[in-house]
Amino acid sequence: MSSYPDTLLLIDNEWREAKGNKRIDVVNPATGAKIGQVANASREDLDDALAATQRGFETWREMSAHERCSIMRKAAVLVRERADDIARLLTQEQGKPLGEARIEVLAGSEIIDWFANEALRVYGRIIPARNTAAQQMVLKEPVGPVAAFTPWNFPVNQIVRKLGAALASGCSFLVKAPEETPASPAALLNCFVDAGIPKGVIGLVFGSPAEISSYLIPHPIIRKVTFTGSTPVGKQLAALAGQHMKRVTMELGGHAPVIVAEDADVELAVKASGGAKFRNAGQVCISPTRFLVHSAVKADFEKAFVAHAEKLKLGDGLTEGTTLGPLANDRRLAAMDKIVKNAREKGARIATGGERVGTAGNFFAPTILSDVPLDADVFNEEPFGPIAAIRSFETLDEAIREANRLPYGLAAYAYTRSFKSVTELSRRLEVGMVWINQAASPSAELPFGGVKDSGYGSEGGPEALEAYLVTKAVSVVGV
Ligand code: NAD
Repeated sequence: MSSYPDTLLLIDNEWREAKGNKRIDVVNPATGAKIGQVANASREDLDDALAATQRGFETWREMSAHERCSIMRKAAVLVRERADDIARLLTQEQGKPLGEARIEVLAGSEIIDWFANEALRVYGRIIPARNTAAQQMVLKEPVGPVAAFTPWNFPVNQIVRKLGAALASGCSFLVKAPEETPASPAALLNCFVDAGIPKGVIGLVFGSPAEISSYLIPHPIIRKVTFTGSTPVGKQLAALAGQHMKRVTMELGGHAPVIVAEDADVELAVKASGGAKFRNAGQVCISPTRFLVHSAVKADFEKAFVAHAEKLKLGDGLTEGTTLGPLANDRRLAAMDKIVKNAREKGARIATGGERVGTAGNFFAPTILSDVPLDADVFNEEPFGPIAAIRSFETLDEAIREANRLPYGLAAYAYTRSFKSVTELSRRLEVGMVWINQAASPSAELPFGGVKDSGYGSEGGPEALEAYLVTKAVSVVGV
């Protein structure tokens, strides 16, 4: 039995109870058992956290990029050193297999390192002036204190991309992390405290998501909002931020198409998609979902994909050998049931899975639906679970049109040996990220983000820092 701590709020580098001592229970999704509690912030706590983040910003923005880089790199070292412990917390609260949790934490330390180094490359520019006595400069400055809202599917990784970019840019960072998975985010932020980050630069709160966002977003101290979660909530928060003229980054839902062309390497398509589909039990915004498979290879693809799914070992993420954990909460379990029922009613065939497994824990069998009609919910709404839906196509044009049909535009995948098709797909798919002949490999240096209803802004590459910087033009005439 692994230990699991209660989680407190982080304000001014101190871990403290919420005023009024209100708490929320934390449940292990593999067993349904209560494993701990998290402090539920009151309005007074939020005011303290806001005041701290303002002071933290004033300190952090005055430090040199080299000093900021050095503290961030120390934090990254601590995250690596503590990866096993943080991963165990993550698996207990979120459910994913321990190996996946460990990869998430180690990838997190790499992302922090990358952003730390990028802090050294926030350049302005000099623009030749029409008046030769003048010097015209463009300065890049941190936008100010950031309010971040992060979800439960990648409790560590969803924070580090925002935190890394904000800190590298010179912003302070107040995050409302997920109440369902609070301990791994707290362990992550503690690495920054132990690395010597000044007071107030980072803060961590938990509580009622709607109450916290509706208080922080309009608050005059907050200058930038960043959210990862569902499209409906993202639209509400972006609208609120717009009313108060706050900068936003929105990383929202997806519904990734996977186009398997007639000339695809089917074995590769199954191996890469099988790994990607069932990673984190499908609770991934870039999870492959709509499988559009050319009719000539559909039977082979489906057979091999089903065989892959049936080999997965469903179980508690802490148990050795588990390759598919439980869903993170019972809302997802109910959603899976509804999706399968709807697909069946619309005439889809259940090639494998399709139901809950056991009665304790949120286990759902890896599920492949075939010959799915376009009007089935699974072909229109993000399943966010271990469900793949297949239908066949005849021409690449037809597949691209179907890929672009939905309002989502986050990730798309394709498998083909044709250079002409690769060019066509890269150009015409309306998404923020295209992965061809491979599973996604979203490294820190690559832009990460969506278009259309999947949001705006990027959480990777130099574009990620741009989102936390403002541009100032300065023109000087010496006298
Ligand atoms: P949800 O829409 O209620 O919540 C999604 C996330 O947003 C959660 O972390 C939640 O705490 C937060 N949230 C909700 N209302 C909020 C508010 N008013 N202010 C601030 N934060 C708020 O749904 P859920 O049941 O938690 O998750 C299910 C759906 O969320 C999935 O179907 C998926 O589409 C989406 N989701 C997406 C991602 C992603 O990586 N893009 C991650 C988690 C969830």
